[in-house]
Amino acid sequence: MMRTPLVAGNWKMNGSQESIKALLSAISSGSTNLSGVDIAVCPPAIYIPVVAQILAKSHIAYGGQNVCEKEKGAFTGEIATSMLLDFSCKYVIIGHSERRSIYNESDSLVAEKFVAAKQAGLIPILCVGETLDEREQNITEKVVARQLDAVTAVDNLDNAVIAYEPVWAIGTGKTASPEQAQEVHAFIRQHLTQSNADIAQKVQILYGGSVKGSNAQELFAKEDIDGGLIGGASLDAEDFLRICQAAV
Ligand code: PEP
Repeated sequence: MMRTPLVAGNWKMNGSQESIKALLSAISSGSTNLSGVDIAVCPPAIYIPVVAQILAKSHIAYGGQNVCEKEKGAFTGEIATSMLLDFSCKYVIIGHSERRSIYNESDSLVAEKFVAAKQAGLIPILCVGETLDEREQNITEKVVARQLDAVTAVDNLDNAVIAYEPVWAIGTGKTASPEQAQEVHAFIRQHLTQSNADIAQKVQILYGGSVKGSNAQELFAKEDIDGGLIGGASLDAEDFLRICQAAV
């Protein structure tokens, strides 16, 4: 099964109107001739209109970093799926480890957000992954299965993307080895096969955690690694472009 790779940048809480314009202009011009890879960026929500305007006719897609599970109403500070769609977002990151750990998002809240995103027609990028402590306790598969099961209990992974992001590798400069990552990616695909074999084959499983231009190729060469979710390196046009090229 040929899955088109996806490279998605998670800008987190970084950037300004000025820096975003420069970054997008470099990424756009550097990737016009790249085919065979889907590219997306996820800016801070307040910059989505700016990004939408710049990328209106571009091959580069964009999305949110988070979304509210509720449709609308008295939820001060939140952003609805309909609002992301209003600015033509294609993707939304759901359950990033920073949301889970810093903002206490539970598996069930993550599942609710996933359902809301899919129902609205957004493609959720569902993040899963173990902490260092969990890896050392040898419960990586158990943790990842629990995070996936919370979602598959209420929805399926059709028209969704998974990002396997070991928490110990995010923003630390420590990357999982291609073998370590592949092992978990294969586990995820096999685990999903139990509920739906077709979707399990089709779903893009991205690796995230200190991916850089210099290590992307060996990671993306692995059978079940279908691209990457990129934090730090997505803020550097040259590095991000190298990662996109490595996925082709
Ligand atoms: C992320 O936060 O999704 C991520 C992968 O970050 P970094 O690439 O900086 O480790």
